[in-house]
Amino acid sequence: MGIQAVILLGAPGAGKGTIADDVVRQADYIHFSTGDMLREAIKQGTPVGKQAEQYMTKGNLVPDKLIIEIVMQRIDRGADGAKYMFDGFPRTLEQARLLDAEFVKRKAVLSRVILLDVPKDVVLQRLTGRRVCRNCGASFHIHNIPPQKSGICDRCGGPLEQRPDDMEATILNRLEVFHQQTAALIAYYKSRGILARVDSSRPREQTAAEVAGLLK
Ligand code: AMP
Repeated sequence: MGIQAVILLGAPGAGKGTIADDVVRQADYIHFSTGDMLREAIKQGTPVGKQAEQYMTKGNLVPDKLIIEIVMQRIDRGADGAKYMFDGFPRTLEQARLLDAEFVKRKAVLSRVILLDVPKDVVLQRLTGRRVCRNCGASFHIHNIPPQKSGICDRCGGPLEQRPDDMEATILNRLEVFHQQTAALIAYYKSRGILARVDSSRPREQTAAEVAGLLK
């Protein structure tokens, strides 16, 4: 059995990370977040991290070639029958085309693309209130998903902080980047007949259940 993948597509704040976390707990997928991988590389001070940081702090996209390289490296180190849930990748048409070409070489299958759809005001409210654990990366929200103890991660007890790119000016740029570069992927995958749209402005359990249902 070869490699399989599904893509969670959506604006920043659409809930990709949260929903992927919920779904992989019920289904046999590996949560594959390029944003998390890059943040980890920055924390470790690797050459990739140093290169990526200058783009990320401004809310711009990291170059396509660098992204596809780190994604395929990670996949080639993984098991042959692995099933991946991509969160935040691909982000441009070029990344989608490169991914297709790499998947053809490996006889890997992209089975579904799920668009998490949310209105812009919900996205802004989610991103400004988001807090993430410095140690394990778990995501909370000061109103929507509050931790049991303010400022402390429920999962590992680590300190919660605001992502540097969740400041208002950077958020607006990230939304702009989404509309200019990532939204084109909706038409790309729709024409292939593998796109499903899910309303992600509802409570997370409902959205996660619908996404999990689409993967059966
Ligand atoms: P995320 O955690 O998915 O919101 O990603 C945070 C930041 O990491 C983005 O604003 C980009 O700067 C960078 N990034 C993550 N994934 C990608 C990708 N597939 N292509 C380019 N840049 C990315």
